[in-house]
Amino acid sequence: DTLVNQIAAGEVVERPASVVKELVENALDAGARRIDIDLEEGGVRLIRIRDDGIGIAAGELPLAVARHATSKIASLDDLETVATLGFRGEALPSIASVSRFSLGSRRQGDDHGAALSVDGGRIGEVAPKPLPPGTTVEVRDLFYNVPARRKFLRKERTELGHIEEWLRSLALARPDVELRVSHNGKPSRRYRSSGTALDRDGFALARLGETLGEDFGRQALRVDHAAAGLRLHGWIAQPAYSRASADQQYLYVNGRAVRDRSVAHAVRQAYADVLFHGRHPAYVLFLELDPARVDVNVHPAKHEVRFRDARLVHDFVYRTLHDSLADTRA
Ligand code: ADP
Ligand code: MG
Repeated sequence: DTLVNQIAAGEVVERPASVVKELVENALDAGARRIDIDLEEGGVRLIRIRDDGIGIAAGELPLAVARHATSKIASLDDLETVATLGFRGEALPSIASVSRFSLGSRRQGDDHGAALSVDGGRIGEVAPKPLPPGTTVEVRDLFYNVPARRKFLRKERTELGHIEEWLRSLALARPDVELRVSHNGKPSRRYRSSGTALDRDGFALARLGETLGEDFGRQALRVDHAAAGLRLHGWIAQPAYSRASADQQYLYVNGRAVRDRSVAHAVRQAYADVLFHGRHPAYVLFLELDPARVDVNVHPAKHEVRFRDARLVHDFVYRTLHDSLADTRA
């Protein structure tokens, strides 16, 4: 079983940033409002994620690290409407098979916590442990038992950069969650939460500046349009904004950060048609549609999605941005 998990880890866990992504998404699925991320040596030595979410009952800790044990969907039909970020039940067993892993948790309302260690796939015993409510996952010495993969890890700064980039894309989408990051014992990043849902939009804008630079935050053009069961909202760079580069393109489908060539093309085309230049436009765009109209189960890491009606989505994005940009020119 360890071998099967290690093979799955090859798809889910590419580098420290993929571990951070899976663990933080679990925290979000558990309703966390605050997530602490402690890293050492670019995450290779240590990744510790602590959340204040619902927690896991002591008796269910072994299940959480068992293969295909997800608490999030009950049948394949549920895949059609999946609203949580995770659902395959492979992340924890995969990560635990290629690291020194521990999972500690205390359910909200319980007096005690409990923890479980997994060492290179060997699952230990559940033991009581004093813990605050929520869940803490520790991943030490990533790929220590898979030299072939360890070899592909890059310098500390490169791995840290990948983690920070992913966290930036998360911070843009979730201004309601506080994120604190430390690296090698020093606080390195803090995204404050919006506190209440009411000021979410104000904070979203503040985060835009915090994340993509004050320039972008100040001049970004707000977009919000709905038609045919699709909604596109977010911000795009104004024509005058010249520092746009390909690394400032954020697309979320139903809250999930994805890359999609067809949507990226629609955005680029709208810019080119209105502004007559082919620079990389900067944008943070959220596309929302009925989950049944999009398949997120294309790749284990869920970076890609497949739209049931890709043409419609493309044309909707193109038309929305074309009209928004054209308005600024009028
Ligand atoms: P998935 O997210 O696809 O369900 P994972 O392997 O990532 O699979 O997690 C397995 C299960 O462990 C989850 O379904 C959930 O029940 C539980 N779990 C994992 N992380 C957390 C967390 N931070 N808080 C609460 N429950 C968690
Ligand atoms: Mg998960």
